[in-house]
Amino acid sequence: MRPKLKLKALCLQLFKLSSYFELTRPDLRIVETDTGAAYYPGERKITLPLYTGEKRSHEVRLLHEFAHYLAHSRTGKPQLHRLPFVEALWDVVMFWYGDPTLYPWHTDFVKVEKYALSRMKKEGYAVHTARVDQVPR
Ligand SMILES: [Zn+2]
Repeated sequence: MRPKLKLKALCLQLFKLSSYFELTRPDLRIVETDTGAAYYPGERKITLPLYTGEKRSHEVRLLHEFAHYLAHSRTGKPQLHRLPFVEALWDVVMFWYGDPTLYPWHTDFVKVEKYALSRMKKEGYAVHTARVDQVPR
């Protein structure tokens, strides 16, 4: 069964993330395509798909897209999945869960997962390496 979209919870999540990182809250739009998770730097907007898989919940996808926004704000330019992004995602995950092992890194991009795994190892966390074949955008 596909997870239900919990819009109120997502709005609250976005509010908490924006407050903590002291950023203007971006617009959140829900779109009806499977590849709809994205951050639009010019519009300060995040989109999430109406439907998403079990492995990458709306909550997880929002953390990922918010990290794009945070990395953009920190560096002054839009960031794909390089270091400024993964450092931002790490900070977002640490704020949200307080524990990096609770984010499903194996469902994110390979280089993002690699960074997280090596940082977790360095910082003494238990590391999981069960990758899935398909990485949703
Ligand atoms: Zn991304």
